[in-house]
Amino acid sequence: RPHRVAVIFGGRSTEHAISCVTAGSVIDALTSAGYDVVPIGIARDGRWVLESRDPAALRISEQGALPEVTTDGTGLVLAPGGNLVALDAGDLPAELSEVDVVFPVLHGPWGEDGTIQGLLELADVRYVGSGVLASAVGMDKHAMKLHLMAQGLPVLPYAVITERTWETDRAAAREPVASLGFPVFVKPARGGSSIGISKVGSLEELDEAVELARQHDPKVLVEAAAVDARELECGVLGGFGHDAPEASVVAEIVVEGDHEFYDFAAKYLPDEGSRLDVPADLPDDVAQEARELAVRAFDAMECEGLARVDFFWLPDGRLVINEINTMPGFTPSSMFPRMWAATGVDYPALVDRLVRLAAARSTGLR
Ligand code: ATP
Ligand code: MG
Ligand code: MG
Ligand code: MG
Repeated sequence: RPHRVAVIFGGRSTEHAISCVTAGSVIDALTSAGYDVVPIGIARDGRWVLESRDPAALRISEQGALPEVTTDGTGLVLAPGGNLVALDAGDLPAELSEVDVVFPVLHGPWGEDGTIQGLLELADVRYVGSGVLASAVGMDKHAMKLHLMAQGLPVLPYAVITERTWETDRAAAREPVASLGFPVFVKPARGGSSIGISKVGSLEELDEAVELARQHDPKVLVEAAAVDARELECGVLGGFGHDAPEASVVAEIVVEGDHEFYDFAAKYLPDEGSRLDVPADLPDDVAQEARELAVRAFDAMECEGLARVDFFWLPDGRLVINEINTMPGFTPSSMFPRMWAATGVDYPALVDRLVRLAAARSTGLR
């Protein structure tokens, strides 16, 4: 049984704060389950520190203030074999010297995208979640669509705007967008938490939305809007080696108030407009199809451990996959844990299962 688990959180992406919030809950659950937890924060500048705060402090305040990793603590690096080394002193307590499993609770680029997974593979340490390839494909909404489409899975029509096309031939960059019709959603190719995403109603509004998305990623995805669709999600768990992935109940996001879609505020801020229906009130055959598609998508991308597969249920009855998140939001009130709780796996059991799955899997070309 794994004993010492390093939880890595924060990170360089715009989802830094959300990762801190998730980490607070994961650390708490692991500690309660008897694990020896080493909390490792990655500051926004990329520095690793041993986090000394009480995990309860890692949350969004009543006033909506977001938590952040600071570089005040002991600087750390992870060395081969899972050995943690202090950068600024030779006095790191011996019991912190080696970890059995790393739980990278990181969202977005430099965390959910295969980069930290690559580092952990190099260091030969076992870790929770998808490997390098699935993480990278899942992070890039363009690569993800190519992967899913090639395996016959349904996605919405889209166009890609690269840095080169945007800067050298604006008219050519806009052309495939116009053929999608309006409205469209404009997104950074590699992002999360709805940051940098806009809904665009006409060609005149396109440039501003593309420039916003480009602040987060030079590659931009423009996607046909799913109009009057219902937004559904399904959690998938397992899928290491011979262990077949399992799907949770299907849930629905209902966006309320003046939010046009499930934007950052609707997702995370207190008293904002969204409701999660877990499970969703759906015909059985639709829920069943979503569960099957979720597992097929998980396998198509060769995900491991966990993923949240998000859908639109269109008015014509079709289910299309919006995206896969290989490290979904993971506080007890987040969608993924809530879907599993409704399926019979509560939060402590979920965290424990993920760590055990990770410990049972080796690193490298398995
Ligand atoms: P996450 O935090 O789940 O990783 P993300 O930043 O990767 O989110 P998306 O899930 O692609 O972003 O989009 C954010 C939200 O925008 C969706 O949950 C949905 O409400 C809305 N949205 C995105 N694309 C479309 C679309 N094509 N049609 C309708 N609504 C959309
Ligand atoms: Mg996403
Ligand atoms: Mg995400
Ligand atoms: Mg999403």
